Amino acid sequence: MNADLRVDIPLLNDGSSAETAVSLLIEQGLVVWRGPTSDSPPSTCEARVLDSQHCVVPGFVDIHVHGAQGVDVTDDAADALVAVGAAHLVQGTTAWCPTIVSCATERMLATLERVGRARAVRSAGLPRVLGAHLEGPFLNPDRRGAHPMTALRAPDIALAKELLAAAGGALALLTIAPELPGAMAVIELMHDAGVVVSIGHSQATYQQTLDAFAAGCRSVTHLFNAMSAFHHRHPGVMGAAIDCDDVWCELIADGVHVAWPMVRLLCRAKPTERIALITDCTAAWGAASASLGEQTITARDGAARLNDGTLAGSTLTMDRALRGVVEHGAMSLTQAVYSASVAPCALLAGELIGAVRPLSVGAPADLVVLDAQRQVVDVMLAGRWIGTDRR
Ligand SMILES: [Zn+2]
Repeated sequence: MNADLRVDIPLLNDGSSAETAVSLLIEQGLVVWRGPTSDSPPSTCEARVLDSQHCVVPGFVDIHVHGAQGVDVTDDAADALVAVGAAHLVQGTTAWCPTIVSCATERMLATLERVGRARAVRSAGLPRVLGAHLEGPFLNPDRRGAHPMTALRAPDIALAKELLAAAGGALALLTIAPELPGAMAVIELMHDAGVVVSIGHSQATYQQTLDAFAAGCRSVTHLFNAMSAFHHRHPGVMGAAIDCDDVWCELIADGVHVAWPMVRLLCRAKPTERIALITDCTAAWGAASASLGEQTITARDGAARLNDGTLAGSTLTMDRALRGVVEHGAMSLTQAVYSASVAPCALLAGELIGAVRPLSVGAPADLVVLDAQRQVVDVMLAGRWIGTDRR
């Protein structure tokens, strides 16, 4: 077999196999063969053999990323998406959804157009852009979190169509509060357009949440955060999200947004295949001061915050999220890898990504090498190591 690269893996944790010594053959950026190392076809290609102190996992897929290192994805700079993508790549994120906070309509439209271009013309050496995540502007003012009141809008079909058109097919996710008047029509429009619709920044009741699932909503944005409180007589969005096995939940596992006991409870109640680890990372990660859309934020007490202390996203990276859920006993490593890679792929499904099961034959060769402490040692993107000098 004429392969570019062979990777012998002592442990491939892809959610389906554990502690199995396997090899991958990689050609032109794709996995072309995968199987037990003992059955590996003869080849003369370059080989990288990893010892038992290391393991290989699929590249992380982060569907909720606002920024990194002083750069917000809505910044009006040609290379904003390049800078944010590159920063997260070295932490193991090989595919992502640039996430747009509620801001002026013109700014949202311009960012959607830039994301559309970045998705259409893939830049070598940068994580693949799966499409935009539009977090707003149809959010409940009472659960707006760090979204500025002035940027929130009542659900509006004309505006929704304008946003869809600007993205040109590159709108992957929309977060919306389904209880707002007119929201159901927007949900149906987006669902019919192939956008994954997620409930968030919402005061919806349990029944309103079920109705939204029936109308096409498939996930809940950062479960626990910016939604009605979990009450035993009023289960609300949280209760519905946990109660409905088919629904995906985003989770910010930084120990600040959600207390670890709640993370453990969620992981006992909800199938891991339906929990997508996200970072909700902002430009405050690695910067003294930064912006989130049109607002100033700073990194304080383990998260990003507005001046009044309101949580405004995080400073989390996917490798830390993975270590967090494992080290706090919420998930096994296999489950955590699943939630960091496979679950978000399955949520976005199929054509947006190219393969629902990462590292299967035909899938992009996007992978992360972890050491025994689950620190990122190296990252492969489309069959090429990004190299330790990038770290
Ligand atoms: Zn966010």
